[in-house]
Amino acid sequence: MGRLVVVSNRVADPRKTASGGLAVALGQALEASGGLWFGWSGKVVENGTPGEGDLHRQTAGNVQLVTVDLSREDHDSYYLGYSNGVLWPVFHYRLDLADFDAGFIGGYRRVNQMFARKLAALLRPDDVIWVHDYHLIPLAAELRNMGCQQRMGFFLHIPLPPPLILAAVPEHDWLMRSLFAYDLVGFQSDADVAHFSRYVGTETSADILGEHEFRAFGKTLQVQSFPIGIDVDEFIALGQAREAQDMYNQIRDEYSRRRLLLGVERMDYSKGLPQRLKAFRQLLQNYPENLGSATLIQIAAPSRESVDAYAALRQELESLCGAINGNFGELDWMPVRYIHRSVARKRLPGLYRAASVALVTPLRDGMNLVAKEFIAAQDPEDPGVLVLSRFAGAAEQMRDALLVNPYDTTRTAETIQRALQMPLEERQHRHQALLQNIREHDVHWWRHRFLSALAAVPGG
Ligand code: ADP
Repeated sequence: MGRLVVVSNRVADPRKTASGGLAVALGQALEASGGLWFGWSGKVVENGTPGEGDLHRQTAGNVQLVTVDLSREDHDSYYLGYSNGVLWPVFHYRLDLADFDAGFIGGYRRVNQMFARKLAALLRPDDVIWVHDYHLIPLAAELRNMGCQQRMGFFLHIPLPPPLILAAVPEHDWLMRSLFAYDLVGFQSDADVAHFSRYVGTETSADILGEHEFRAFGKTLQVQSFPIGIDVDEFIALGQAREAQDMYNQIRDEYSRRRLLLGVERMDYSKGLPQRLKAFRQLLQNYPENLGSATLIQIAAPSRESVDAYAALRQELESLCGAINGNFGELDWMPVRYIHRSVARKRLPGLYRAASVALVTPLRDGMNLVAKEFIAAQDPEDPGVLVLSRFAGAAEQMRDALLVNPYDTTRTAETIQRALQMPLEERQHRHQALLQNIREHDVHWWRHRFLSALAAVPGG
C-alpha cells in the first residue's frame, strides 16, 4: 500500500497525549507509511481570505502535518453553520435544533473545494486517502472532479439517521450521492449501515462478514461498520501514572463515606444531560437511602459556544443542578457537583476509577468513547458499573453494561439504583466481559480493519 493521507477538519499532533487515542492510532498508521495529515489549522483570518498558496507545514517524526486557515466567512458558514448547525443536529436526530440557513451550504462547498484544490497539489499517484467525518462528505467528489484517481475511503464518526430524518437536510440527495465518489465508506454501527441501505435502496450484496456493496449513480461502493475503539493499553498506562493516582486518592478520600456517580462529556445536546439529571433527581426521590450519600460529579466541557442551541442547554443545566442541590442538599452534602470545564486527560482515569457508577446516557451518539475509557480505567477486583444508553453506538458492542432508554426517567433511575447495589461478583463478571470486548476492538483493530478493507476494494 502507498503513502497514507489522512484528511480531517482538525489536525492533531499524534505525539501529544492530550490529543487522545484517535490521533495516536492515526499517527502510528501515518508514521508507518511516511504519511501526510491535512486539515484546518484552527485559525480564522479576520479580514479577507487566506492566500491560495498558504499552507502551514509541520513535521512530527515521519509524518507531515499540513494545515490551512479559514476566512471568517468560511468558518462561520462551513464550520459553525452547515457542519455544526445543520449536519450535527440532523444526524443526531435533532431536527428541532437545526438552523437551515440557505447561506451555509455555499461555505460548506467552498471549503471542501478549497481543501480538495490544496490537497490535490500535494498528492502522489499511489497515495491512499482516508477522509474523516461530516465536515468533509463531498471531499472525494471534489478531488475526483480534479482528476484524482487515488483510492479513497471515508469514515463517519457520528450516526447516520434513517432516510426520513436525513431528508430534512435540503441537500441530502447531493450528500449521499457524493459518498459514491469514495471506494469505501465506514460507519460506526450496523444501525447506521442499515439506514444507509434503506436510503440508497440498491444493495447488490451483503456477506456474513458485514461487507455490503451498493450500486448507484453508475458507481459501486463498499460499505461496512467499523466501530471505533480506544487505545486500551495506553489508557491503562495513563491510569497507572502519578497524575491519575493522585486524582484517584484525592477523590477516594473525599468520598470515603459516599457513593460517587460520574458523567463526563462535552456540553452537547446529544449527550442527554438534562434527562440524566432528571433521572438522578428521581433516584433521590424514589430511593431515599441515597440521600446524604449519592453524589453526581458532572463534568461538561465547554463546546461550540457560539452555536445558539448550546447556550440554551447550558442555562437549562445550570437551573436543573441548582434546583436539585437546593431541594435535596444538606449543609454537609451537595447531590450534584457540576463543573463546566474539561479535566486534564492525565487525571481522567483516576476520576473514572473512583466512581462507583458511570452515567453515559446520550440521546444519540455515533459511538461514545467515554464508556470505553471508563471500563479501561476500572480496578478489575472492585470495578464500577457502566449505565449506558441504548442509543449510543457503543451499545451494539457493550451488551454487558446496564442499558437504558434515557428518555425513560423512571426506569433509568431504577437502573442507577440497581447499579449502586450490584453485588461484587456481578460487577466483576460484567467488567471482565466489557474489558475483553473493548480490548479486542481497540482503536488499532479499527484502523487496521478500515485500511485493509480499503486496500482490498477491487479496482480502487
Ligand atoms: P464526542 O466525540 O462526541 O465528544 P466521545 O465520547 O466519543 O464524544 O469522545 C470524547 C473524548 O473526549 C473522550 O476521549 C473523552 O475522554 C474526552 N472528553 C470528553 N469530555 C471531557 C471533559 N469534560 N474533560 C476531559 N476530556 C473529555
